[in-house]
Amino acid sequence: MKEDITMRKLMEQELIEARNRALRSDKLKEAFLQNLSHEIRTPLNAIVGFSELLSMDINQTKEQKDYTSIIMNSSNQLLSIVNDILTIAKIQTGQEVVVLKSTDINSVLDNLYKIFRSQVDIKRIGLNLRKGNKNPQFLILTDETKVTQILSNLINNAIKFTDKGMVEFGYSLNEKHIEFYVKDSGIGIPKEFQQIIFERFRQVESSLNRNFGGTGLGLSISKAFAEMLEGNIRVESEPSIGSVFYLTLPLKATIELTEKQTTSNNLITNESYIILVAEDEIYNFQLIEAYFYKSNYTIIHAHNGQEAIDLCTSELNIDMILMDIKMPYVDGITAMKEIRKQNIKIPIIAQTAYALETERQHLLEIGFSDYIAKPIKKEELIQKVIKLLQVK
Ligand code: ADP
Repeated sequence: MKEDITMRKLMEQELIEARNRALRSDKLKEAFLQNLSHEIRTPLNAIVGFSELLSMDINQTKEQKDYTSIIMNSSNQLLSIVNDILTIAKIQTGQEVVVLKSTDINSVLDNLYKIFRSQVDIKRIGLNLRKGNKNPQFLILTDETKVTQILSNLINNAIKFTDKGMVEFGYSLNEKHIEFYVKDSGIGIPKEFQQIIFERFRQVESSLNRNFGGTGLGLSISKAFAEMLEGNIRVESEPSIGSVFYLTLPLKATIELTEKQTTSNNLITNESYIILVAEDEIYNFQLIEAYFYKSNYTIIHAHNGQEAIDLCTSELNIDMILMDIKMPYVDGITAMKEIRKQNIKIPIIAQTAYALETERQHLLEIGFSDYIAKPIKKEELIQKVIKLLQVK
């Protein structure tokens, strides 16, 4: 049987060419953005910097002082517009990346409070901060820069659109989410604008907004960032009464300092110990590491079974191993057996996601010293560690 595939071949060829054109254009966009960023920011930085120097000159007349201050304000404004446009372009070309790290949310909010304090004083409105967790530190796993940028956009808007009353910001918590809010008693947003203000360049009223300044990019950047962080942003508002913007983010690997401190008190001993944690999931490792924060225990990390074997046979005098069962390359059971061959006495606790009694028995029979089910609870882990180290 014969079939004429000339058309199909031509179409395939066209598709490949279209794809290559798109890739080339993406590369061009990327290069263009990098150049633009550099070319615009360099002279702008010089303008901002030197006008700042001029403003410090005490010999300036009042007029000169006023002019310098106008140059400074306008160039700062321009710099922030350029930064916003570049951020939007980076989001579009997929160059914005999420950098997750353990972030102290309470200190992020304290810093924002300090930054915006002077602005509200000038406008004679109140500024209030309410933390959903009252401990000195509240750590969550997130992108600190992006969260700071979103909240700073929201607080900036709240202050900009409020002439009397107050601005309040903070967060509340539930099991799975952290919900930040920024509330104001300002002009409010009519219902029909409450969705479109999150689109690029959209503002409630262009003539009005000219009084307020701004490009209409802040909320669209905030929305894109919130989505990159697997969260969302929304508004509840009533004209002439005020607005509340909410930023909801997933709560990942929450570790509190008070928890760490109580833990470390239990763990302070005269001796110091080295615990090897074999675990391929970095967040799980970080959690265990946090459980031993400020204690006499040094926690070292193996990313898989082979690394655990290598570290055990190195010069390090490891006192105990917390061994994940499911790991890439060499799994926990194989690694335990290999280590047992070399150093019989070292306690090895198996950590696994399965919590069946039969499995527990099996793990003990094949050579593990104890067993702990995930998610690992702090108290249980510490009890087991202390017990096993005593009999060691
Ligand atoms: P910009 O503030 O630069 O105009 P945004 O994207 O941050 O850009 O905001 C878009 C528009 O949404 C604003 O121009 C304003 O019309 C409206 N808006 C945002 N926040 C508030 C607020 N807290 N109160 C009233 N209007 C707001």
